[in-house]
Amino acid sequence: MAVPISQAWTVATYVLKQKFAGRKKYPLVLMLEPLFRCNLACAGCGKIQYPAHILKAELSPEDCFRAVDECGTPMVAIPGGEPLLHPQMPEIVAGLVARKKYVYMCTNALLLKEKLHLFKPSKYLSFSVHMDGQREHHDFSVCREGGYDIAMEGVRVAVEAGFRVTTNTTLFDGADPNSVRAHFDELMVAGVESMMVSPGYTYDKAPDQNHFLGRAKSRKMFRAILSNRKKSWRFNASPMFMEFLMGKKDLTCTPWGMPTFSIFGWQKPCYLLQDGYADSFKELMETVEWENYGTESGNPRCANCMVHSGYEASGVNYTFGSIKGLLQTAKAMFSSYKDDGASRILNDWKPAQHGPLVQIGSAQTAAQASELQSVSGD
Ligand code: SF4
Repeated sequence: MAVPISQAWTVATYVLKQKFAGRKKYPLVLMLEPLFRCNLACAGCGKIQYPAHILKAELSPEDCFRAVDECGTPMVAIPGGEPLLHPQMPEIVAGLVARKKYVYMCTNALLLKEKLHLFKPSKYLSFSVHMDGQREHHDFSVCREGGYDIAMEGVRVAVEAGFRVTTNTTLFDGADPNSVRAHFDELMVAGVESMMVSPGYTYDKAPDQNHFLGRAKSRKMFRAILSNRKKSWRFNASPMFMEFLMGKKDLTCTPWGMPTFSIFGWQKPCYLLQDGYADSFKELMETVEWENYGTESGNPRCANCMVHSGYEASGVNYTFGSIKGLLQTAKAMFSSYKDDGASRILNDWKPAQHGPLVQIGSAQTAAQASELQSVSGD
């Protein structure tokens, strides 16, 4: 089972309640961003290119609890920035667990081993560790030599201490599907509960603009990765979202599915775009012109987007939208997606050579990163 039964039950009953209440637009996961500063400066990240005074700012635990209560989702993801740099993160997580929210604290795990004692294992808490592939690929992707080994050590220590540990993997152009599959094996051996994989989004602020995947390339890559699945692999994404990635299903984006709250307020319209901010969740839902977003809208910023934060809620909504959706999902959960064409893609795939590992220039220089880390007393 990719998620505990209690979590699957909580989410299923929440979605069904929304359906029975006739709500067409409802959120599924709150993306709570309590800070933007980070101890990495990844080439594909669009979150850390802020000036230093913004990177030093953070939400208080009370701000976080207010947003969570306002939004009402059963699951809360805490991305960033690096949440473990927030000095009150243990208090924030404890408050969310007390509210019986299923929390995915997204972390690059560089500080996980050192800070683990500040958290208590709970069925409501999962460390969602950012792992972008095998050692060479991960280190290249996060622009940090040794990053993979530190993150995997964090995973092992957290698993041994009895925490739920999941992973999130973002793939860019140049990813090698054979290596990604081998990486899944490594994660399962390390005791990871389940894995999530998504293509990256073409952030216009990201320092490296050359390695984002277009839709056709994404589908080919995900078909190669996710077909002929091994029995040992467990995923924590909706089976319909994964079929969407593989090009087996058409889904339209659900921009309100994972609303984002940060130091700026409620971000319009989604986790990826910033077309202003609302003061309340209600205002967000009522003032965004939702028809202007999603690939079908013709909005060029949505043209290539296939990311988890836009389409996971679409997959869940599809599942619970009809008997057909439920049956397809049940079938998908037990399918290995046998596909000889996908095997041929894997056999013929020529891995791209990475260039030398370099820290790609960004607004956050190494000196700034160290100054910002010292804000957290680390
Ligand atoms: S398609 Fe992507 S960028 Fe556009 S609204 Fe949906 S999630 Fe946001």
